[in-house]
Amino acid sequence: MPAEGTNIQKDLNPLANAERQFDEAAERLNLPQGIREVIKRPRRATIVSLPVVMDDGSVRVFTGYRVQHSIVRGPAKGGIRYHPDVSLDEVEALAAWMTWKCAVVNIPFGGGKGGIACDPDRLSKGELERLTRRYAADLSDLFGPESDVPAPDVNTNAQIMAWIVDTYSMHERRTEYAVVTGKPLEVGGSAGRREATGRGVLFCTREVCRHIGMPLAGARVAVQGFGNVGSVSADLMARSGAKIVAVADVSGAIHDPKGLDVTALLRYAADRRGVQGFPGSQPLKTPIIEYDCDILVPAALENQITHENADRVRARVIAEGANGPTTPEADKILAAKGAMVIPDILCNSGGVTVSYFEWVQNRMGLYWPEDEVNARLEQYMVQASKDVLAKAVEHGVSLRVAAFMVAIERVVKVIMLRGLYA
Ligand code: NAD
Repeated sequence: MPAEGTNIQKDLNPLANAERQFDEAAERLNLPQGIREVIKRPRRATIVSLPVVMDDGSVRVFTGYRVQHSIVRGPAKGGIRYHPDVSLDEVEALAAWMTWKCAVVNIPFGGGKGGIACDPDRLSKGELERLTRRYAADLSDLFGPESDVPAPDVNTNAQIMAWIVDTYSMHERRTEYAVVTGKPLEVGGSAGRREATGRGVLFCTREVCRHIGMPLAGARVAVQGFGNVGSVSADLMARSGAKIVAVADVSGAIHDPKGLDVTALLRYAADRRGVQGFPGSQPLKTPIIEYDCDILVPAALENQITHENADRVRARVIAEGANGPTTPEADKILAAKGAMVIPDILCNSGGVTVSYFEWVQNRMGLYWPEDEVNARLEQYMVQASKDVLAKAVEHGVSLRVAAFMVAIERVVKVIMLRGLYA
């Protein structure tokens, strides 16, 4: 059945899925076709050839991209990805995703994304630095605190952001920290950034639990992925009284229906590079997605809940720490079962929110203590959760469609007020 096969393949493309989700929300909002075109298309896409002298003296030319999807609500915001498969199509789609994520959490940014087609594992530190600096230098006309503010994404990190600060600052003849976020603390980074995404997952989950009358304290939680997002989400949920009953990472999956000691598990996983074999736990034989729990936190990869396993999901709340863990077909199956999916563009937007705080602190030259960062993050995440829940109730739609509706309405409102420059 080739036609069905094609659909299923499409269902597994997270970027095509985001576009379908956008279309569904745009349809419900009755957006005129012209405005829909305006907000769908990227504002500007740039491709650069980046010559780099390699350690052996040879010259290689890499291809770099930067897409500004929207600057209607503020500077383009979004990470830079280093991966052999980076393409203009992918960067364009990810840039649009950032526009909706920034709008749903209501921070004054548009959406952008960048990337270089390269395999960073096969580059020396020196080659990586020269490639990064060439990219930053070539795009320094686009980048800037008021125009386009990159951040880390797949295979890029705080060190790479520090090189971009330095390159941009050399061109500007002054130090400019606010040109990127996700920097090391010593180079203008923000307290609380590392934990921000997981902390945001906690705040959204708490609001949704309140909404459905299920106390977070005592709720049984299964977490897929024990990296940055998964481990912080698990730790903070446990501190809020939830019981973390199952955890999976690349090393394996473990469970304990009585609840795992997350503090000890964090230490164990750091020492052993994985959760497998954690003392007192039992290995999990069935997929963690199907574990008997109240809250499931997919915080590893995309396409984990699909048409094949969605009807075996037992959780009442699915908190999408990862980007794109649930396919549209699975969404329908979960909705029919009465499960609530907290969509990625809301649930994991704590990271970009604290990136916004980092940018604000750089521009003020005043740095907040971590508890102040966390309190402000809570305000933004709680308000965004309430906005999305209210929209879902008003229109009788899923939280995902509601989140896109909230985001699109915010962008369209600004376009209407500003008008189209001719
Ligand atoms: P990470 O690399 O720190 O952690 C990923 C975790 O997933 C690891 O524990 C890894 O072992 C686990 N994993 C990988 N494959 C697995 C598998 N097949 N089964 C079970 N576990 C598996 O990454 P992260 O920063 O925590 O990001 C996780 C997800 O969250 C990604 O989708 C990312 O795009 C998204 N996200 C991250 C942030 C952020 O601030 N870090 C922000 C928004 C969205």
